[in-house]
Amino acid sequence: MSYQISIQKTQNPKNKPDQDNLGFGQIFTDHMFIMDYTEGKGWHDPRIVPYGPLSLEPSTMVFHYGQAVFEGLKAYKTEDGRILLFRPRKNMERINISNERVCIPKIDVDFAVEACKTLVSVDRDWIPEAEGTSLYIRPFIISTDPFLGVRPSWTYKFIIILSPVGAYYKEGINPVKIYVESEYVRAVKGGTGYAKTPGNYAASLIAQVKAKELGYTQVLWLDGVEKKYIEEVGTMNVFFKINGEVITPSLDGSILAGITRESTIELLRASGIKVTERKITIEEIYNAHEAGTLEEAFGTGTAAVISPIGELSWNGKVIKINDGKIGETASFVYNTITGIQSGKIEDKFGWTVEVK
Ligand SMILES: *Cc1c(COP(=O)(O)O)cnc(C)c1O
Repeated sequence: MSYQISIQKTQNPKNKPDQDNLGFGQIFTDHMFIMDYTEGKGWHDPRIVPYGPLSLEPSTMVFHYGQAVFEGLKAYKTEDGRILLFRPRKNMERINISNERVCIPKIDVDFAVEACKTLVSVDRDWIPEAEGTSLYIRPFIISTDPFLGVRPSWTYKFIIILSPVGAYYKEGINPVKIYVESEYVRAVKGGTGYAKTPGNYAASLIAQVKAKELGYTQVLWLDGVEKKYIEEVGTMNVFFKINGEVITPSLDGSILAGITRESTIELLRASGIKVTERKITIEEIYNAHEAGTLEEAFGTGTAAVISPIGELSWNGKVIKINDGKIGETASFVYNTITGIQSGKIEDKFGWTVEVK
């Protein structure tokens, strides 16, 4: 596809935020990318315009039935001033996997990466430079027919917005306490668990709220049928290290295939560490802890890269992992991936893409 992206620059550039207090997802840059889809015409009119509110009828389908998908990735500024994206093609390939599940027409992967790069380039002055900071990129697609009947929409908008975000770990990496959720489930096989679609998040909030009330940071999700097999931790993929071997749940339809998960597996294998993707029960984790072979547990995802698990609570039984400290494998993965992302470590894997 050779679309020409039209660019309309803002007349009222905003003041750049204080780099030390960015937080996450609260501040947005001067511009956004939009492209429309119309049945019979396909995707059309790609454009970069000033960031601002959308005007949509209250009957717009996405408000009622949630036919939508999203992605999340980051742009980093290196010490020598280059701008790097981390595996952006993976995100655009995944948005199409999500699209297929919720009946949204696919986008052209290469063009979507191009759109991302063009928008980041237009708002390049918004990429923060302080250690650990980045520019979060949020591509998403919404169904836009003004219609209350239930069917796939005939019109859509593909939008990309940008948000400068602060360092996830300002005060060092502190392992979190995790509540193993045995009542609510996130996803089931045959459902939408493998798609990045808003409904999954809506369905997960109640357990997150419950875990917070009980004094935990997030939940560990179990499978929706037997409540036995481990699936994910919060909105991250999960890894365990038992007796020198790294184990992560295999992708079986209810788990989101994280790009950080894939990168972690590739990195560990390239470093000679055994990584196994298989079904793993929560009971096995507790047994390994009992036997003294549970060495580490950690989540992986774009926002934090690595989030070590220091404590698990399952049906009233609490176990502490690695003395509540970050383990050597989690440290290694965190340092290497963030090093590659920020251009401090040589990218032997060819994961980064430069924005010119
Ligand atoms: C986005 C997401 C992840 C992590 O994916 P990354 O590509 O590593 O950011 C994991 N689980 C869920 C449910 C997600 O939505």
